Amino acid sequence: MLFFYFRSILLCLLVGALLGILFNSLAWGVVLALGSLLGWHYHQIYLLSHWLEQNPDSEIPEGLGALGNIFDDIYLLQKRHAQSQAQLKAILRRMQKSSTALKEGVVMLNAQGNLDWWNTAAKRLLGLKRSQDQGNAITNLVRHPRFLRYFLNRNYTDPLKLPSPLDRNISLEISITEIGKNDRLLIVRDITLLHKLEIMRQDFIGNVSHEIKTPLTVIQGYLEAFLEQTTLLQGPMKKGMEEMLYQAKRMDNLVNDLLMLSRLEIDNQRENETQIDLHQLLPNIQKDAKDLAQQLNKRQEISLNIGHPAKIMGSEKEIFSAFLNLAYNAVKYTPNGGKIEFRWWIDKNGGHFSVIDDGIGIASQHLARLTERFYRVDNSRSTASGGTGLGLAIVKHVLLRHDASLEIHSRLGKGSTFSCHFPSQLPIGQVQSGPKKT
Ligand code: ADP
Repeated sequence: MLFFYFRSILLCLLVGALLGILFNSLAWGVVLALGSLLGWHYHQIYLLSHWLEQNPDSEIPEGLGALGNIFDDIYLLQKRHAQSQAQLKAILRRMQKSSTALKEGVVMLNAQGNLDWWNTAAKRLLGLKRSQDQGNAITNLVRHPRFLRYFLNRNYTDPLKLPSPLDRNISLEISITEIGKNDRLLIVRDITLLHKLEIMRQDFIGNVSHEIKTPLTVIQGYLEAFLEQTTLLQGPMKKGMEEMLYQAKRMDNLVNDLLMLSRLEIDNQRENETQIDLHQLLPNIQKDAKDLAQQLNKRQEISLNIGHPAKIMGSEKEIFSAFLNLAYNAVKYTPNGGKIEFRWWIDKNGGHFSVIDDGIGIASQHLARLTERFYRVDNSRSTASGGTGLGLAIVKHVLLRHDASLEIHSRLGKGSTFSCHFPSQLPIGQVQSGPKKT
């Protein structure tokens, strides 16, 4: 390039010098030649800028010399740019076509939770309108309270099931993925059929459990009455009756747990939501745990630590049942002489209830499956302790309904910690002091 410049300047000077010699004025000759060179350059630059302003898609004007090379380079760059633009347009067209064909609704939200883009299925499932809703907050368009909680909590590990805002008979499953810095991608699925099947299954379990409950109560009642007549029963007969009563009680526990679970699954609303005072509830849990330890002939140190404040919003019956399940498990799976601690505290993330024991512990491979229905680490041990295998499934459901989560830490032979984490909206009040031991 530099060579071209020097060559044209030298040529120009040469022509100018020749003209100068011819007309007897070397200086004027050189000035004239350099002026012409400058003028020609300006002309070429004018052509280039005119082309850029008017129609950069048309052929680039012909340039000469060094500027000709620059024109060629610009032309090449422009061609490559046009090609990559065409490729991008084709990709976008294909993406738009495939997103239109998707059965799942896809909505892109910006950092503020406002709608950036959505596909046809999202339009159909959530009733979004391109002209009106662009740039609006998703929380203004999907106003279900459970969606608001789910969206604002930013805990998107599990999807959320909701009735469609357009038609309550349509069930939707919404999952959110965080992308980039703060953008979110919302995926909506129509799960109406699945939901109906699930309801049928839950109804079936609920009905069967309910039907079994009455005859079971009668059997239990008669067995208890017979066993009270100690004079009539002797030897193997008495032993058989005791075993029958034990099994009938186990079945009764199972039916109660099944009924509780099916009610928790069917009913999406939190039942009788009130302000729960944990200063009243937790001492009762501690007392019941001590009673169970006594029944099982275990001497355990069962302590309670409650920090202030200790109030949460929720269903007292459900929270009591979940906490009691964890407390009973700690008693059942901690041997004689062991230590169990119930702890409640509040921090910036919310309220936390932990049941800590130094019992038999659980091997790591079981931890992920513990909350599945009927999952038992050791079948014989659980059955011997009167377990149904449904306790942790109930805990998980109750916590889900309170937007809370269950965290399990355990080491085989060392003990376990089961923690319930409640979001910051549920505990009432601010952190005031640490736990108080009772
Ligand atoms: P179960 O009624 O059998 O106790 P759960 O659902 O409550 O059923 O618990 C599932 C399994 O988790 C139990 O069978 C038991 O093996 C294990 N488990 C629960 N809690 C504890 C604990 N604190 N320590 C050791 N193992 C536990």
